[in-house]
Amino acid sequence: MVLKDVKGVGPKSEKVLNKLEIFTPDDLINYYPYRYEIIARSDLKSLKDGDKIVIDGVLESLPTIFFFGRKDRMNFKLRTASNLFNVTIFNRGFLKNKLKIGSNISVIGKLERGQIIASDLKFGLLPDRPKIEAVYHTVSGITGKQIENFINNLFFQDFKISDYVPELYAQKYGFLSKRKALELIHFPQTLKDINIASKRLKYEEAFKFMFKMNYLKLSAKKNDGLKRNVNKEKVFEFINKLPFKLTIDQEKAVEAIYDDLTSEKRMNRLLQGDVGSGKTIVAIIALYINYLSGYQGALMAPTEILANQHFINIEALFKDFGVKVILLTGNTKSKTKVYKLLENNEVDIIIGTHALISEKVNYANLGLVITDEQHRFGVNQRSNLKNKGKKPDILYMSATPIPRTYALTLYGDMDVSSIKTVPNGRKEIITKIKNTKEIKDVLTMMLDEIKKGHQIYVVAPLIEESDRSDLTNVETLYENLEKALGKVCKLGLLHGKMSVKEKDEIMNKFKENKVQILVSTTVIEVGVDVKNATMMVIFDAFQFGLSALHQLRGRVGRNDLDSYCILVSDHETERLRILEKTCDGFKISEEDFKLRGSGDIFGVRQSGDMAFKILNIKNDFDILKAAKEDSEEYLKTKKLENFANIVDEMQEGIS
Ligand code: ADP
Ligand code: MG
Repeated sequence: MVLKDVKGVGPKSEKVLNKLEIFTPDDLINYYPYRYEIIARSDLKSLKDGDKIVIDGVLESLPTIFFFGRKDRMNFKLRTASNLFNVTIFNRGFLKNKLKIGSNISVIGKLERGQIIASDLKFGLLPDRPKIEAVYHTVSGITGKQIENFINNLFFQDFKISDYVPELYAQKYGFLSKRKALELIHFPQTLKDINIASKRLKYEEAFKFMFKMNYLKLSAKKNDGLKRNVNKEKVFEFINKLPFKLTIDQEKAVEAIYDDLTSEKRMNRLLQGDVGSGKTIVAIIALYINYLSGYQGALMAPTEILANQHFINIEALFKDFGVKVILLTGNTKSKTKVYKLLENNEVDIIIGTHALISEKVNYANLGLVITDEQHRFGVNQRSNLKNKGKKPDILYMSATPIPRTYALTLYGDMDVSSIKTVPNGRKEIITKIKNTKEIKDVLTMMLDEIKKGHQIYVVAPLIEESDRSDLTNVETLYENLEKALGKVCKLGLLHGKMSVKEKDEIMNKFKENKVQILVSTTVIEVGVDVKNATMMVIFDAFQFGLSALHQLRGRVGRNDLDSYCILVSDHETERLRILEKTCDGFKISEEDFKLRGSGDIFGVRQSGDMAFKILNIKNDFDILKAAKEDSEEYLKTKKLENFANIVDEMQEGIS
């Protein structure tokens, strides 16, 4: 059964569902509400000004409507059992013709000076007893109600629901069936329903994750590593020719990697360190050691921009050492040529994106695999690349330091090298929180930097204007900044909906200082390195996790100039103060963890391993631990090969 077979889903809604990462009926039924609304008629007697109000009644006047720009405001009178209310609602103009005098209407909103400012409107009266309603994340083109209907339809269709909790553990914990749990999570009658259903679903998520991790760990153990001969002198020669001296932590990491590579044990190492701490050069040295011992190396980056940047740097560094480097991304024109070069061992190092794990890529003798920003990739993608060679050594890089206790659980017995000190000459980035009323100050600070000949990143959460959100979008922001600063400098716009070519063009202009202010969504988040950029301005900063903000901030402060980070936010300023106080990524990730749990510790919610749907690795750490132990035990019940099928099945639709 495919998504289009779900009753109600047509080609158009299929496309929109895909945007929500829903590709199969199973994805759909496992698309959980992110919160619930309890619908119960408000008791007007106990209501004060400013309170939330839920009320129903009869429409007493035809709505009047007022348009401004792309938005609208509608007013009407609602007669309830005891009152007559003036109701105002924004951006529901499209409902005007359906609102007839005498219609039964329910509204949810806020009571303001005796009037109702509604946030939502429903046709029909409220149920007599309180009702719990699931609220789903949506995108434009689909409503939560539609998603709910599709899911409801699916329950009545002939369809096999995936279930990854072995019977043994379902019994051990007295879990509901998967089907029942899904029914309750989408259509709960009581809060208790949600509670017991989510326990079951959380455990399943944790089990799946831990099972895969442990499976990979065990299958890696069975292989011993490559035997290598390396001329250590040559490695030193290379290091001595670098334009800078390695920091102590970099040296330590290089030594550990050298030992791993030259020993018979297969390397499985995580290199973690703050943004800008200089992980890349360590990776490059690892690639060189691998090259000296006669093997090909691959470096996989999560984005096109980052892959390009790595390629340019690495090619330049290796030019005088006779190492042949090549780039492969989705955008590469002569892919077949690249495949040939790889197969015939005519190239030593390949840098690229996911394209590196395409089925068509065959390596002659892959000896080392490095994934940058490893949390961005699913477990599966990593293991795919790993399996491309016979038994290549593996190095993962992560710019998001993970607190030790969690790292141990999540990464098992992976070896860890940490780079804790940033290279000399770096200054702390001066971080300030500003609210939207202080925007003039922000513009003045920006102008100062521009006058000094420096460059600025400006980041906002949304791409375009949206009915559903008041958050800042980069398109409008770009227009406004153009008006304010366009006379003194050039601005550029960058976001995820642009084509790769457009993105590269604008990124290159920024690198060459042909554009001084880059207005962008978080697509620039990882790894980008423009030394002349000294200011990062983040709008609606409260929208992001601390670790994500810290990563964004790390785009600046990449030389010895004073650098600034301005967090524009009208909310959650207390949380943001942590960033004002410290630039230490390990500390920040610890705080982030305490405050928000998993969601953001690994950066902005991305499709990496840790993008759990319902599990929160902080609050549900016990579940994760139990799942870890259970999955270890479970993997001992049969020979490892017998689990390969289940792991394959789990991978479907995930990576
Ligand atoms: P990361 O990948 O850890 O975020 P990078 O490897 O991109 O950081 O390094 C950030 C910048 O610091 C790069 O421009 C790099 O050339 C420079 N760098 C790295 N190591 C050193 C060092 N030991 N001394 C001076 N500069 C360094
Ligand atoms: Mg990096």
